[in-house]
Amino acid sequence: MKNNATALTTRKKDDLIVVTGAGGFIAGSLVSYFHNQGFTNIRAIDKKPLPMWYQRTAGVESLSLDLSDRENCERAAEGAVEVYNLAADMGGMGFIENFRVECLRSILINTHMIEAAYNAGVDRFFFSSSACAYNTTLQKDPNVRALKETDAYPAMAERGYGWEKLVSEMFCQEYTAERGMKTAIARFHNVYGPNGTWDGGREKAPAALARKVIEAIETNDPNITIWGDGSQTRSFMYIDDCVKGIDMIMHCDELIATPINLGTSELISINDLVSLVEDIAGVKLKRVYDLNAPRGVAGRNSDNTFIKQVLGWEPDTSLRIGMQKTYQWIKQQYADRKAGKVTTAGYKDN
Ligand code: NAD
Repeated sequence: MKNNATALTTRKKDDLIVVTGAGGFIAGSLVSYFHNQGFTNIRAIDKKPLPMWYQRTAGVESLSLDLSDRENCERAAEGAVEVYNLAADMGGMGFIENFRVECLRSILINTHMIEAAYNAGVDRFFFSSSACAYNTTLQKDPNVRALKETDAYPAMAERGYGWEKLVSEMFCQEYTAERGMKTAIARFHNVYGPNGTWDGGREKAPAALARKVIEAIETNDPNITIWGDGSQTRSFMYIDDCVKGIDMIMHCDELIATPINLGTSELISINDLVSLVEDIAGVKLKRVYDLNAPRGVAGRNSDNTFIKQVLGWEPDTSLRIGMQKTYQWIKQQYADRKAGKVTTAGYKDN
C-alpha cells in the first residue's frame, strides 16, 4: 500500500498541536485521537464556554476563545508547530439554509487564523472544507455522478456556507503559493458518529433520524417526519475515518495546498437511511414527508479515485456498523438527558 504521510515520522510527540473548534464534534474527536497517540502538547480552542464542550480531554490545554477576533487567533497560534483549523459556525441543512450570514462570517475565523498561523511560523496548517464547496448544478439528481476534486470549478457552491469554504480554500492555496506555508485542505462529506450534535437545530441527517426513531419509541408515536421526499442521496463518513484521514492528508507532501475529498463513496437515500435506523432499533414507523423542510441538493457522493491514488486508503467503516454505534450513543444521551444529566451535544441553543 502506498504511504505518502512522510511528515508523520518527523513530527515529535511534544510538538505543539493546536486544534480549533475543539468544543465541537470533529475537532473534539481529533484532540482525543492525538492524545491517544501520545502527543503531550495539545492546545484545544473553542468559543463555547468549557462546560459546553462536547468532549474534554484530560491533560490538554483547553481555551475558550472567540477566533473571529484577530488577537485571540494570535494567542491560539503562539508556539504552534501544526494548526488544525476546524472552528466554524455550522450545522446540518436546517442551519446552513437558514443562517447564511453566520456561515459567511466564519471567514473571519479563517482569515485571522491562517494569518496568525503564518506569523507564528507554523510548519503545517489544516483547513476543514466541505463537499458544499462543489458546484451545485452537478447535484440536481439523486442518481448523481460522484464529485471529483475538479468539480468545484467553475464555481456555483452552496450559497453562504459553501462559498465561504471555497474562498477559505483559496486563502490556503495562496498562503502556500505566495508565502510558502504548507497547507492541507480536506473537503469533508457528511460526518457522523458518537459525540456529534444530535438535537437543537444543528444536527445532521444520521443523528437527527436516530433521535427521531428513539423519540418515536419513547413516546409511542407511530410516525416519523422526514425532511423532503426522502429520495435525496448522500454518503456518510464515520468519525474515526475522518480523524485518521485528517492526519494522513495533513502529512502528505503530495497534497500540500491541494483540496481532496474526505468521505465515503457509499451512496444511500434518506429513505434507505431511515430503514437502516429502523432496522437497528427493531421498529417500523409510518413516514410523514415534510416537503417544505430544508432538503439540500438532490444528490451528493464522493469520488474517491484521488484519495485512493495518493494515500492508498479511503474511509471504509460501513454505514451499518457506524450507525449502530451512533444509535446506541444517542440512545444513551437521550436517556441521560431524560434523567436530568447535562448532555452538551444535544443542547438546545436556539
Ligand atoms: P461543530 O459545530 O460540532 O464544531 C465546530 C465548532 O466551532 C463548534 O464547537 C463551535 O462552537 C466552534 N466555533 C464556531 N465559531 C467559533 C469562533 N468564532 N471561535 C472559536 N470557535 C468557534 O461542527 P463539526 O461537525 O465538528 O465541524 C467541524 C468542521 O468541519 C467545520 O469547519 C465544518 O464546516 C467542517 N465540516 C463538517 C462536516 C460534517 O459533516 N460535520 C461536513 C463538512 C465540513
